[in-house]
Amino acid sequence: MPYHTIIEPFKIHSVQRIAMPGSDEREAALRRAGYNLFGLTADDVIIDLLTDSGTGAMSAAQWGAMMVGDETYAGSRSYERLRSVVEDLTGMPEVIPTHQGRASERILFSIVAEAGMVIPNNTHFDTTRANIQFQGAEARDLVIAEGRNPSADHPFKGNLDVAALRETIAEVGRDRVPLVMVTVTNNSGGGQPVSLENIREVRAVCDEHEIPLFLDACRFAENAWFIKTREAGYADHTPRQIAQEMFSLADGITFSAKKDGLANIGGLLVMRDAEIAAQCRNLLILTEGFPTYGGLAGRDLEAIAVGLGEVLEESYLEYRIRSIEYLAEKCRDAGVPLVWPPGGHAVYLDAKALLPHIPQSEYPAQSLVIELYREGGVRGVEIGSVMFGVVHEDGTEQPAPMELVRLAIPRRTYTQSHIDFVAEVVLSVAERASSLPGYRIVEQAPWLRHFTARFEPI
Ligand SMILES: *Cc1c(COP(=O)(O)O)cnc(C)c1O
Repeated sequence: MPYHTIIEPFKIHSVQRIAMPGSDEREAALRRAGYNLFGLTADDVIIDLLTDSGTGAMSAAQWGAMMVGDETYAGSRSYERLRSVVEDLTGMPEVIPTHQGRASERILFSIVAEAGMVIPNNTHFDTTRANIQFQGAEARDLVIAEGRNPSADHPFKGNLDVAALRETIAEVGRDRVPLVMVTVTNNSGGGQPVSLENIREVRAVCDEHEIPLFLDACRFAENAWFIKTREAGYADHTPRQIAQEMFSLADGITFSAKKDGLANIGGLLVMRDAEIAAQCRNLLILTEGFPTYGGLAGRDLEAIAVGLGEVLEESYLEYRIRSIEYLAEKCRDAGVPLVWPPGGHAVYLDAKALLPHIPQSEYPAQSLVIELYREGGVRGVEIGSVMFGVVHEDGTEQPAPMELVRLAIPRRTYTQSHIDFVAEVVLSVAERASSLPGYRIVEQAPWLRHFTARFEPI
């Protein structure tokens, strides 16, 4: 079609009311929550961009499939349906359902990792890192240099630095690298994609040393779309063919169905090796449940099986990636500093650049995230020194490398006018950026403080 407006490729079948708290109510909510947006309730928020995990809308086909969910404890029909969808997509025969992505990680690393080992990745997601460290192993980030620079333009900023991977293996020795991981897209690095060429190069290094390669495939479909539109030779491939090629290069995957499963809950651990899979299933039974349901209801397995098909539809992926880019372009065109190019699931505003008058010790990204809520009820998340600052024993703090505010877009949930509204709110806050205050922490937990800390404006 000769039109350039990319429309939402769905019509709305069931709606949820958005509460519309006024500015007095938002101010009171901020005070009640100690200026921590994790303390807000659903009805305090107008547009919720806290996360794209499990917050998307399911289709009528998914809801319909849930009605035929089979709740048989052992040997559920719904498991068989999901298993065959996943095997067809990944080419891997061992399909283990889990309640969400981190359960897959916990099980996998309990089996393969131990103290003294190193697991390379482009950038480990926080739960992956935590599960590796919990085994006493090291989670090492080896993303290319462009991936560490918010404004470096590169089509595949999530690529893994292959030379650094070789050096790591040479340094620690093959026997202490139980597997190599690549996260597609690179969530912690801004949702940036990884090219097939890069996965192929990583695979070649793994082959040389006989080390298995696992994909953290939470956003595999978004990654496939970036490959289709940016990597030479893939324009005529379908997203499914590209995804299948990605999976053909791997020995296994961990997966959160709350992202590209288009479901509200669920995860998968999938692999080729039957022996390791058997060990994983033994652990699964201990904490998740029998291997044909893995901590989920049969109806959840159905929703994921249908979601894995819908997420690869071209019209969906075109709309999905465009909707992120659309918000990013509006911010960029108004001169708001942000991570560029935008990734697959979120826009990351650069608070350090926008609020140079607030030192990192006064949490510029926290100030920005609070102001977006105060201005328009938009909830994002601080990804800066509140989340990643290191508190030393003497109470001093080492700031995070970047001060970002992430606006994650839930799948199929908001329309273009919602996003236009978000852009207006961002622009209006950016206009009065120099008047935003810094914040101090008045109460915090010893770890993962960003969830519960309380703040006060300075
Ligand atoms: C969300 C996510 C996970 C963890 O999945 P959960 O379902 O939240 O446990 C792991 N890796 C990446 C890249 C993710 O985005």
